[in-house]
Amino acid sequence: MQRTGQCLCGAVTYTAKGLRDELSACHCGMCRRWAGGAFLAISTEGVAWQGEDNIQTIQSSDWAERGFCKKCGSGLFYRVTAPGKFHGVTSLAFGTLDDQSGLSLTKEWFIDRKPEAYTFAGEHHTVTEAEVLAMFGGEGS
Ligand SMILES: [Zn+2]
Ligand SMILES: [Zn+2]
Repeated sequence: MQRTGQCLCGAVTYTAKGLRDELSACHCGMCRRWAGGAFLAISTEGVAWQGEDNIQTIQSSDWAERGFCKKCGSGLFYRVTAPGKFHGVTSLAFGTLDDQSGLSLTKEWFIDRKPEAYTFAGEHHTVTEAEVLAMFGGEGS
């Protein structure tokens, strides 16, 4: 599936290819600080950016970076930078999609870091911090 999206101010727009119809949520402390709550994301096989000059990236951990719009601050993506089978895997911020219909939340990362303030309804595949660290090594995401 292919969908378009943009940041809040529109300085960055994109067309994402190879989107699945599944979302994930991450409850880790880094995502909560960065996104203001659980980070809802959708994997993409490739993104064609417009206004790429307006994207700033920050290396947020030993194995991943995050991209955001320099003008409005909207979080745009999380990307694995570490070598290995996950290298280059990019998750777009769900909220930046123009059309958010027809997708469902299937996976929750760092479920044991989720604040008690909220819970997503329904059954999802959940992954604990220990399980994530076993996959990637290091701390946070
Ligand atoms: Zn913007
Ligand atoms: Zn996270």
